[in-house]
Parts: sequence; C-alpha cells; structure tokens
Amino acid sequence: MTKHAVVIVGGGPTGLMLAGELALAGVDVAIVERRVNQDISGARAGGLHARTLEVLDQRGIVDRFLSEGQVGQVAGFAGVRLDISEFPTRHNYGLGLWQSHIERILGGWVNELAVPIYRGREVSGFAQDDTGVDVDLSNGESLRAEYLVGCDGGRSVVRKTAGIEFPGWDPTTSALIAEVEVTDAPKLGIHHDAIGTHAFGKLKYEIRNGEVVFLDGGPMRVMVTERHVGPATEPTLRDLSEALVAVYGTDYGIHSPTSISRFTDTTRQAATYRDRRVLLAGDAAHVHAPDGGHGLNTGVQDAVNLGWKLAQVVRRTSTDSLLDTYHAERHPVAARVLRNTMASIALRRPDERIKAVRDTMSELLGMDEPRRRFAAMMSGLDIHYDLGKGHPLLGRRMPDLDLLTARGALRVFTLLHGARPVFLNLSKPGTFDIAPWADRVQVVDATYIGAWELPATGFVAAPAAVLIRPDGYVAWVGDGTHLGLVDALTTWFGAPASRKSGVASHGTDVSAETRTTSRMQLIAANGHIRSEPRNGLFLLEGRVSSCPVIRTVSSDT
Ligand SMILES: Cc1cc2nc3c(=O)[nH]c(=O)nc-3n(C[C@H](O)[C@H](O)[C@H](O)COP(=O)(O)OP(=O)(O)OC[C@H]3O[C@@H](n4cnc5c(N)ncnc54)[C@H](O)[C@@H]3O)c2cc1C
Repeated sequence: MTKHAVVIVGGGPTGLMLAGELALAGVDVAIVERRVNQDISGARAGGLHARTLEVLDQRGIVDRFLSEGQVGQVAGFAGVRLDISEFPTRHNYGLGLWQSHIERILGGWVNELAVPIYRGREVSGFAQDDTGVDVDLSNGESLRAEYLVGCDGGRSVVRKTAGIEFPGWDPTTSALIAEVEVTDAPKLGIHHDAIGTHAFGKLKYEIRNGEVVFLDGGPMRVMVTERHVGPATEPTLRDLSEALVAVYGTDYGIHSPTSISRFTDTTRQAATYRDRRVLLAGDAAHVHAPDGGHGLNTGVQDAVNLGWKLAQVVRRTSTDSLLDTYHAERHPVAARVLRNTMASIALRRPDERIKAVRDTMSELLGMDEPRRRFAAMMSGLDIHYDLGKGHPLLGRRMPDLDLLTARGALRVFTLLHGARPVFLNLSKPGTFDIAPWADRVQVVDATYIGAWELPATGFVAAPAAVLIRPDGYVAWVGDGTHLGLVDALTTWFGAPASRKSGVASHGTDVSAETRTTSRMQLIAANGHIRSEPRNGLFLLEGRVSSCPVIRTVSSDT
C-alpha cells in the first residue's frame, strides 16, 4: 500500500492550495482527484477578493493571477458595490478571473512543487485508526496516510464517511448556468424581473473604468433563475430552454452547449472541521449561494490556515491539538460568509417590501463607516482570529510593510514566501533572543518608517516586534518587553528545542519566562488559581499558599 503523510481528496482550488502549502513545508502530500485533468466544465468562480490576492502574494505567486485577470472593484453586498481603493493594502481591488484559469495556475504551481496527483481516481471510503487512515479508491487501490483532508466539494464523500453533520438550510431558489451558442443575440448584462435575477455575458471580457465590457465573438454565458427550485438531477438543454422562455418568451435559439449546471442557495456548514485524523476544507466544509463570490476565496484561505498547522503536526513540532485551532478560527469565518450570502439572497427577492429593505440597506452602505466595515468584511481584509485581548494587530493580517533590513529593502510578504513563521524585530537588534525556536522561526531585524494602518480599523500603535504565522496572521505583538513571547512561540510553533539556550544578549531571559509559565501552569493545574494565557499576559486570581494574591489583567485596547 502506498503511504503519504497527508492525502488530500479533491484537486479543486482548496485541495491545490493546501497541497502547495504542505509541499512548501516539506511534507509528503498527495492529491486524489477524480477528474483526469484540471479542466472544469462551465462557469464557477469569477474571481478573487483582496485577501486571497494577499495570501497568494505571501507565497510569491500573485503576479501569475494578476497577469491573466482583470483588476476591478468587485466587492459588494446585495448588489451594492463596495469600493476598497482607499484601503491600506497593495491589493486594494479584486480580480476578475474565471475559476478554470485560477485552477490552471494553481495546478501549475503545485506541479512545480512536485506534488503527486492520482488522477482519474475517486475516493470511495476510508477507515481511520490511532496512527493513520486507510483510503479506498474506486479502482480497488488503497493509500495509507497519517492525515486525510476532504477538499472534495459540497457533496464530500469524506465528510459523509466521517459522519460529520452538515446542518443548514435547504434551497429556496435555483438558477441554471450554461455556456452555449445562440442564433438570436440577447441583450447582454444583468436583468431582474418577478422571477429573479438573470444574466447574459461573454466568456471574454475586460473591465474598463470599472465597467465590464464583453468582447466580440465566442460562446455566450447564460444565467437564468428558475421559477421553481429545480431538481437535484443534471439539467438539460431543454430545461435551459424552458427557463429562458419563462423569463424572455424566447430561448434565443440556444444550441451547442459546452456546459449546463444548476446552482442553488443551499446553505450548510460542517458541524466540525475535524474528526481525529480527518479534516475538511473548502466546499466540503461549507456551501452557500455564489452571491458575493466567496466560496473559492474562503476555501483557499481555509487551506492556508490549515496547511502550516498540519505540516507542524506531521513533522512532530506541534501536538495534534494545534489542529483544533483550525476549526476554532475558520468555522466562524465561513459562518459569517453563510450569514452574508443568506442576507444577500433574501435582499434580492423580487418583492416590493424586500426592495424597500434593500434600498434602506443601500442607503446605509452609502454612509462612510458602514461602507468601510462591509467593504473590509466582503474583501476578507478584516478577518480577525480570536487570539485573546491585546494590540489590535493580534489575530489580524500582518500588513505588507516596506522594511529596511540588513539584506536591503524587503516587503513583509516576501519574508513569507517559504510559508515559515517570522519574528520581526523592529527594535534594537538583539533585544529578543528566540534561539530555542531558531530551527522553525526566521528572525528578521528591520526598520520600518511609516504608519501602521489596518483596513477599516484605522491607525494602530507601532509595535516593537511581531510574531507572524506562516498564514500571515499576527500571533504576538511586542510592546518593548518579551512578555508572552514564549507562550506564543510554544502555542503556535511547538516546545522550545532546548531549554538551556535562550538568554538574550540584552538581558531578556526567555528561558526564565518558560520557567514562569511552567510554574504558573503547574499551580493552575493544581486548582489553586486560574491561569489564562492571553497574548502572554496572565489573568491570575486566587491565593496560593506560598504566594501573595496576584491579579494581572492584560491590557485591552
Ligand atoms: C455559479 C457559481 C459561481 C461561483 N462564483 C464564485 C465566485 O465568484 N467566487 C468564489 O470565491 N466562489 C464562487 N463559486 C464557488 C466556487 O466555485 C467553489 O466554492 C469552489 O470551487 C470550491 O472549491 P473546492 O476546491 O473547495 O471544491 P470543488 O471546486 O468542488 O473541488 C472539489 C474537487 O474534488 C473532486 N472530487 C470530489 N469528490 C471526489 C472523490 N470522491 N474522489 C476524488 N476527487 C473528488 C472534484 O472532481 C473536484 O475537483 C461559485 C460557484 C458557482 C456554482
């Protein structure tokens, strides 16, 4: 039986991104994909939001996507366009690029990283035990993995076999989407009527002055809302024709379809993203209406959150409890996407009263503060993982600052290309010594002159140092002391390699804090006091026989 450290089921956008992340970390990873090549039939995602572009920039591959797509202001909510051009990011826009191209480019990257893909094979089941997972393929072969990740889409066999519940809401509306030839030219663009929203477009387009301009020739892309929710079966040309006639009174002589599919507003989310050695990511973990264009974006970002954690667990630098932070961080992000898409679909209903709510919402989103907040949310730039109280940067995306280092001028994102954590010291070189983690964490002494500004949050105090996770989120913020640093390093990047080293050259005794932490934890374990590491600051309450009452409350901003 062939063995791999990680087997990913599904080589769509999520599976490809995850494979790339694991390969960068040196993990033996393989993908099982039922498609014989990377081609996808029909339209799916139409582009990438700003945070996904940043994530790709963190790996040094964003230019591959930018060079093929159309940059524009694509973020929106319930049809209200939200401009993000004022946001402090290099990617203060979205990118129009069809999913077929996104997958092709991601596939090329994964290929360069030499990830094996078992194509034309379907995973039919699996069984997990204490040390791994036996994965059954439909051709009778089997694979053995330490961990199995289901990136196998909304109908995920992995999720079903694991028995993970998928609670949510059944569809209230459905639409057909197709690529066809026509004999009579329909009016291009988006149309609304009592049945819902419909659209005609071309495969090839450009964005000029913020407007989509379709290019001449090529097949037609059709989207038509059905009068009643369609069945779960594959739609036919006849179904498409009938739906068009119901809306326009003609089917425009559609013929020669290259794809016809149906999508709905079914909204569901996996109850848990992990069952021991089995994890879920992307559509396998969450499905919702395409409104707002978030499915692929959320899946790619799931992958970037999970990849480095799984790599560390496989390489034994972290215990498997690190994997629970994947669910803790990503489940709320997708839950918010689900809420927004449901709200968006409800606001699009062709009903005068709903239109009144839509107009009210539109008015609200015209106001500066709501617009900024929603724009940050819909572009993914406001994602905030709950890593406790502290500096506003904690748990948020690290801005791509222009740094001055001993190696010359460097962007923060360049430091993340290898998907390795970064300890960015912005104070005097040598202030911090993290020698026990030197095998895992890059230490960079740098100078940054400029403001620290976060999308929608605004300006924040300049930190003395930051610990940046491989996914680009800030795990610790230093205010000039090393308080909490050991705790953050241990939580995110495993136990120190050696407790003997770690005395900083400038008097910061990192190992002393390790001892303090252990002592606090020991006392807490004995039930005398409550100890909650929060960005390295301890909230201690109670009385310990040999200690006075201690009460230290972390600073909250
Ligand atoms: C009409 C439409 C428009 C959309 N627009 C947008 C948009 O603008 N922006 C956006 O972000 N998202 C959009 N989406 C959503 C987006 O397409 C999905 O969220 C995205 O494809 C999810 O990626 P994934 O890799 O998680 O799953 P998938 O893309 O579904 O990939 C799953 C892969 O697993 C393979 N597979 C499945 N089962 C097995 C098995 N048992 N064994 C082996 N292989 C298997 C499949 O062949 C497939 O390659 C849209 C979707 C639709 C339908």
